[in-house]
Formats: sequence, structure tokens, C-alpha cells
Amino acid sequence: MSVLEKITSQDAIDLENKYGAHNYHPLPVVLSKGEGVYVWDVEGKKYFDFLSAYSAVNQGHCHPHIINALTEQAKTLTLTSRAFYNDVLGKYEKFATQYFGFDKMLPMNTGAEAVETAIKLCRKWAYEKRGIAEHEAQIIVCENNFHGRTTTIISFSNDEDARKNFGPYTPGFIKIPYDNTEALEKALTENANVAGFLVEPIQGEAGVYVPTEGYLAKAKELCEKHGVLFIADEVQTGIARTGKLLAVQHENVTPDILILGKALSGGVYPVSAVLANDTIMEVIKPGQHGSTFGGNPVAGAVAVAALEVIEEEKLAENAENLGKLFRGELNKYIETSSIVNLVRGKGLLNAILINDTEDSSTAWDICVALKENGLLAKPTHGNIIRFAPPLVMNKEQLLECVAIIIKTLKAFEK
Ligand SMILES: *Cc1c(COP(=O)(O)O)cnc(C)c1O
Repeated sequence: MSVLEKITSQDAIDLENKYGAHNYHPLPVVLSKGEGVYVWDVEGKKYFDFLSAYSAVNQGHCHPHIINALTEQAKTLTLTSRAFYNDVLGKYEKFATQYFGFDKMLPMNTGAEAVETAIKLCRKWAYEKRGIAEHEAQIIVCENNFHGRTTTIISFSNDEDARKNFGPYTPGFIKIPYDNTEALEKALTENANVAGFLVEPIQGEAGVYVPTEGYLAKAKELCEKHGVLFIADEVQTGIARTGKLLAVQHENVTPDILILGKALSGGVYPVSAVLANDTIMEVIKPGQHGSTFGGNPVAGAVAVAALEVIEEEKLAENAENLGKLFRGELNKYIETSSIVNLVRGKGLLNAILINDTEDSSTAWDICVALKENGLLAKPTHGNIIRFAPPLVMNKEQLLECVAIIIKTLKAFEK
């Protein structure tokens, strides 16, 4: 069997259902091609991608500069492991650390691995630099967080689907409400062994929950006061998605540990990273952490190209401008809409709240109708639809999408 052989959408869906674990519930569309802001299904129908693979494809599908870096490097050298040096990794590390303003980076592959890396780094720092007694370090996390799917990460999730029957859970985490600096201050004051505060600058999976202005700056200030590391999970919000290179930059916050993934490769390859300054990163020594694929030459070449595209095409600026336009247009519609309660977000990470009960299928039904009308989006927790197109979109395309979305929503009004 050749994977290049043409099959129908229904056949592709049937194959996944029969031979694949049912750990996702995809929208019934089978994609076979992507370019820029567009994707095409097996039957040749064209769609606007309004998910961007959960913000991994910020640079647009199959960006030629990134694909060129991928194929050139793939023809030359793909993997050495870190048992040997390779001639790409150091250049990538220099480029990325200067790009984001940190002394050092630790390369991994997926977002969850980078979060795990940050947790390990924070704990080790706590024992070796802060003098916290071994096994006593605590990390503060937020309710409704999403940081990935490993056993440790789901241990501090409060999503029942993500957690239930996957225990026993990893201890060492204190959960507080999101967007609540009083709760943070209380947790910091009451627990002497807090080593870090792990937070998403905007809670993406929870439904694009944007915290109150000033929250991140105040949280960083409290962490500094208590000698605790501020760990920003920018896997979804980072790399221009919210209108700045990093979402923390909206509040001029510099995290002690920065976690990146998703768009670090433009959706071309699994590339993630943890960045920190020397005083923190130096606690990790040979043999204490690693990954066979982390820092491989293909990943390095792809990530440099992906970051170059962000800068060259001014994608942060574009996201900022188009985001304002998007929310402005939708707000005009919402004034008289009975089906949408509100639109919220920053840059091109946005969501609408559907006016129906949490357990209704309305958001799903709207996404199916959007698909029929040529635009792909997915509901996230409850009755919320996330809208996150590639950042290479232009104004005309965005307005065309707004028209599709409003037309679709109008059909659901009572
Ligand atoms: C997607 C995501 C992750 C996990 O990344 P994977 O590559 O799926 O492991 C972690 N944190 C946030 C905020 C994410 O959005």
C-alpha cells in the first residue's frame, strides 16, 4: 500500500476509526493539501484554516522558506543524537537565544516535553540554588490549565477527561485560580517551599481566557519578591500569535523560564525548547536530562527558518492589526446576535462564546456548518469556538472569513 494513493474522505475516516485509537474526535473533513491560509480536502474543496493546528502553523501551511530549510537539511544530515556535536545545533541555539533574549536554551521536540523539562529544571534549581529540602519543592499552577498530556502534567490538570483513571498522580503542585494575584500571593506566603509559578499568559485550551490587564506583571513581581521562578508556557501564545513575539511582552514581563513549541517550527516538524539564563540553566549537567531527537539538525534548520519568517513578514504586527479588525467586526454583529454572547482574545488568538448550555452540541454544529461554508474551526471546552488562522492572512481574506462566520452564525439564530 502506498500512502500517496488517492482515497475518498469516507475511506480515510473509516481507516482511522478502525485502526487508530479513538483519542480524538475530529471534525469530519479529510485534508490532503495546505498552502498559506488555505487547506484542501481529498475531494478538492478549499477551506480557510481557522485553527492552524492549535497555533503551530502561524507562518502558514508549507511556507516555502521553511520547507526549503527542511528539505535541504533532510538531504544532508537528519540525526546524530547528542552523543556527538552537529554543525546546526549551536547556530540554532545562538540564533534562538538572541532572538528571545536568554543566555541558553534546551532543545526538545513536543510542547509537553518542554513543559516537563521546565518542571525538572525548576525543581533542580530549587534544591541546588534555593536550598529547598529535597523532595519538598512545590510548583504553583492554575485551574483550567493546559500544559500537555504526560502523566505528571495531567496530574495537575482539572479536566476530568485528561485525568480520570490515569493516576496515581505526581505530587508537588499547588493549584490556584487563574487571573487571581491574591490567590497567588496567599499561596506564596503560606508555602515556604514554592519553587516556581507555571502559567499560560492566555489560557488557550480553556477557551482563550485572557486575564485582566496587569495580571502577568503583578504575578511576576510577586514571584520575584518570594524568590520563585516565573515559568511562562508560551507553547500556544508565543511566536507572534497574540500580536507580540511573546504574549508576556504585552505586559513587559520577562519570564525566568520560557517554554516554546508549536509555531517554533511553523508546524513543519516537532520542535520545542526551554529558554533560561545561566544561573538557572547551569543546574543541568551531562546525563541529567535529554532526548534522542531533541536538537537534531533538521529541527534546528527548520526552527531558524520559521523564526526568520516571523520577523521578515512582520507577523506579530499583522496579528495585532487583524485581531483588532476581527474582534471589531464580530462585536458589531454580536450587538444584535442571539447566538453569540461575546468575542475575546488578543491578536489572532480569539474565541466566541455560544449562547447555549455547556453540554449542548451547538458549538460543534456551528463548526460543521462553517466547514460546509469553507472555514475550519473547532470547539474548545464547552460552548466556545476558537478562531486562530495562520498569521500570514491578509485583510481581504480576513474580511471574507468574517463574512463566512457571520453568515453561518445567522443560520443558527432563533
Ligand atoms: C499544545 C500545548 C502544549 C502541549 O504541546 P504538545 O506539542 O501537544 O505536547 C503545552 N502547553 C500549551 C499551552 C499548549 O497549548
